[in-house]
Amino acid sequence: MARALPIAWLNGTWLPLAEARVSPLDRAFLFADAVYEVVAVYGGRPLLVDEHLARLARSLRELGIADPHDDAAWRALIAGLVERNRSAAPDGHLGVYLQVSRGADTGRDHGFPADVPATVFGMASPLAAFDPTGSGLRAITAPDNRWARCDIKSTALLGNVLLRQAAAAAGAQECIMLRAGRLTEGSSSTVAIVEGRTVVTRPDGPEVLPGTTIRLVRSLAPACGLDWREEDIAESRLRRADEIWITSAMRGVLPVTHLDGKPVGAGVPGPAWRTIAVAYERCTRS
Ligand code: PMP
Repeated sequence: MARALPIAWLNGTWLPLAEARVSPLDRAFLFADAVYEVVAVYGGRPLLVDEHLARLARSLRELGIADPHDDAAWRALIAGLVERNRSAAPDGHLGVYLQVSRGADTGRDHGFPADVPATVFGMASPLAAFDPTGSGLRAITAPDNRWARCDIKSTALLGNVLLRQAAAAAGAQECIMLRAGRLTEGSSSTVAIVEGRTVVTRPDGPEVLPGTTIRLVRSLAPACGLDWREEDIAESRLRRADEIWITSAMRGVLPVTHLDGKPVGAGVPGPAWRTIAVAYERCTRS
C-alpha cells in the first residue's frame, strides 16, 4: 500500500494530511455513516470523472446526505489535490480519495442529526502507470456475507476488509464473492469472465457496486473483437471460464491467473485480456 501524498482537504481547508483532525463523534467513525469515491488520475487528468461524480451523488442520495458540493466544486477539489501533490507525484498518476460523512453531532444517536454539516475529506496517493503486460493475480473465492445494499459506495467495508484479508492470508490479491451459488463481485473490484471471445458480467443490482471501470472496458470490447453479455454467472461457470478479469479504478483491468489455487485457463494472462489491456492503457494516456 502506497503512502498517502502529503496535502489533503478537510471541510474547506487545504492542509498537511498529518495535521487533519476529525471529531470522534463524526458519524463515519461511530457508524460508518459515510460514502466515498476513488478516482484514478493519469498524467494529471482524472479518468471517468463524470461517472465517479454521478455515483457519488447517487450514494449520497441513497443515504439522505445532502451533497455538500456541486459538480464544479468536486472537480476543483480533485484538481486541487492533483496540483498540490504534484511535486510528490511528478508523473501526475494519482488515486484521489473523496469521502463525505453525515458529520459530527454533539452526541451518539443512531437517528440522523438535524442541521449538522457533512464532513468532507479528500486525499491522494501515488498510482503506478497501468501495465498491459502484467502477470496477473491470484484470487480466492468466499461466500458474500456483506449487507444487502452493496450498490451504495459506503465506507462500511468490514465485510470487504475481512475477505480481502482472507485472500492475503492465502497468498492471493483478491477475494471473489459468491452469493447463493452465483458471482457477485470482488472485495474491491468488479469481476468479468471470458468464454471464448465473449466477455460476461452479471447485471447491476443491490448486491454489487456499479463499477465505472467495467463500463469503460465494455465500451472498448467491440474494437477488440470481443462480444459482451450480461447475465447471472453460476459458480460452476466462473470456475470453467477461459479467463477471469477484475476491474477497478485503481487497478484498471487485471487478469486472474489462479482461482483458489487452480489455474484459470492456461494459468497465465489470456489473449482477450492482452487485447483489452492495450486498449485500456491507451485510455489512461489520452
Ligand atoms: N466493487 C467493489 C466492492 C469495489 O470496491 C470497487 C472499487 N471501487 C468496484 C466494484 C469497482 O468500481 P470502480 O471500477 O468504479 O472502481
